[in-house]
Amino acid sequence: MNSASYDAVVIGSGFGGACVAHTLSAAGLRTLLLERGGWPCRDDQDWNQRAILIDKRYQSDSPLLIRQYGSADFKPLYANETMGGMSIFYGGASLRLRENDFARWPLGYAELEPYYTRAEQLLGVHGQAGEDPFEPPRSAPYPMASVPLTPPAQRLRDAAQGLGYRPFPIPLAINFSDPARPRCILCNTCDGFPCKLEAKNDLAATLLQQAQAQGLEIAAGAIVARLVRQGGRITAVEGLDKTSRQPFSVSARLFVLAGGAIHSPALLLRSGLGGPLVGRFLMRHCNGVVAGVFPFATNPKQVYHKQLCLADFYEDHRAQYGTATGVIQDIYTPAPQVIRHFAPRGLKHLAGLVAGHMQNLLCIAEDEPLPDNQVTLSNQRDVFGLELVQVQHRYTPGDYTRRDYLAARARRVLRAAGALLFKTYRIDSFSHAVGSVRFGTSPEHSALDPNCRLWETENLFVVDGSFMPSSGGVNPSLTIAANALRVGEYLTGNFDKV
Ligand SMILES: Cc1cc2nc3c(=O)[nH]c(=O)nc-3n(C[C@H](O)[C@H](O)[C@H](O)COP(=O)(O)OP(=O)(O)OC[C@H]3O[C@@H](n4cnc5c(N)ncnc54)[C@H](O)[C@@H]3O)c2cc1C
Ligand code: SF4
Repeated sequence: MNSASYDAVVIGSGFGGACVAHTLSAAGLRTLLLERGGWPCRDDQDWNQRAILIDKRYQSDSPLLIRQYGSADFKPLYANETMGGMSIFYGGASLRLRENDFARWPLGYAELEPYYTRAEQLLGVHGQAGEDPFEPPRSAPYPMASVPLTPPAQRLRDAAQGLGYRPFPIPLAINFSDPARPRCILCNTCDGFPCKLEAKNDLAATLLQQAQAQGLEIAAGAIVARLVRQGGRITAVEGLDKTSRQPFSVSARLFVLAGGAIHSPALLLRSGLGGPLVGRFLMRHCNGVVAGVFPFATNPKQVYHKQLCLADFYEDHRAQYGTATGVIQDIYTPAPQVIRHFAPRGLKHLAGLVAGHMQNLLCIAEDEPLPDNQVTLSNQRDVFGLELVQVQHRYTPGDYTRRDYLAARARRVLRAAGALLFKTYRIDSFSHAVGSVRFGTSPEHSALDPNCRLWETENLFVVDGSFMPSSGGVNPSLTIAANALRVGEYLTGNFDKV
């Protein structure tokens, strides 16, 4: 790899990077993908709650410095890193944004629709069209049908229907039906964990393997430190191997940055690229988990049940705020040892005892883009000698209004299902980070043009979640994938011009 030259270099192997790399390699372009994480282990420890959630075996060596909720200090947060990006840990919920969500975008839903369809096919999404009350129009059915609800999800469906809501199955990128690949066994360590069977349709198990067969070269443990610019063009990327610490430099005609909405702006800043908008308008959804405590064991057989979604309230705040409200989804309950570990001192024993009687709902509320919610670089350096990445973030009163509105309705459903006590938790991670290198129609208001090209360069495109000018009210991965497929098609059609 050292000093090699390619048609295209892709940085990052999440939804953005894998979808572009898949498209470029299918078109016969000599493409190299650089990813700082290693391949997922796929061993028993990947389903061990202590190993993943407490000991954090995939934790990055480079902490993020986070200042949030009005705090004065930056505190370190060690996120996971691996080949396939956050798709390895994600829950597989694969929803499309709705037509109204595109009001602030330089393109409309109709332009993205064919790529949503393609993304659903590539990711093997199992879903049920026609049951989501605010579902946007679609040109094709889901590639595979949803599987029946397990008992914990049935309990919530019955309760929600009894309240007059219209719950529907979450479209899931999990292999329940293709006999040619490992099939899901409905275990309870899915959302937040790698699938040791490769039954989750994460990118390492699907698109990246397919792209390798098409000729894509993949370098794991390759940390890109900076992009090198000459005039209006990027000519090379420079970085170092995570294990040997040996430096590398790779040149190419085309560069695609897909490091995620926190690391992509950081890399642009390290490279002195992009205008004053790079890093700003970071969003993450205003998420909360409502936990209900039941007078019975809620999931005695420990089966998978992230299967139910409620979108009834999606448009309730559109007139007031111009945003979606969001959705409510089923989410698993961590093991007693994990709940005990993270419970406040004094409540640890009690929290561990009630864990088996809990059932939870996740509330995903749209958050507003604020210029001061920002990714910057710190003066401190990581073990590789690179500036640490700083993130400062606060929510608006409107963000909290939408989240609390959803939480009140989640409590209603849990109460109707039999819950007696409730506790609402906020989610401190940046798992749904988007928006920090937004696309738009003018360089005054956006960092990227409508094709996701950095305005000031000829041959650098940014395709992870950072392109999104609003977060919408559904989980972001399918939108990131669809947009990356759109940009990938543009790049293969215009390769001679970039
Ligand atoms: C626990 C969890 C559950 C989730 N569940 C869902 C869900 O059910 N549905 C959904 O839609 N979304 C879900 N999400 C969110 C979803 O996973 C992310 O929105 C999505 O993966 C982001 O894709 P991306 O391409 O923007 O970036 P990422 O997935 O973050 O990929 C970026 C990649 O770039 C690499 N990288 C960064 N910088 C460099 C560098 N300098 N050099 C080399 N490599 C670099 C990173 O290591 C990473 O692998 C979940 C997230 C988490 C954490
Ligand atoms: S629920 Fe299915 S896809 Fe998810 S980790 Fe378990 S076996 Fe894998």
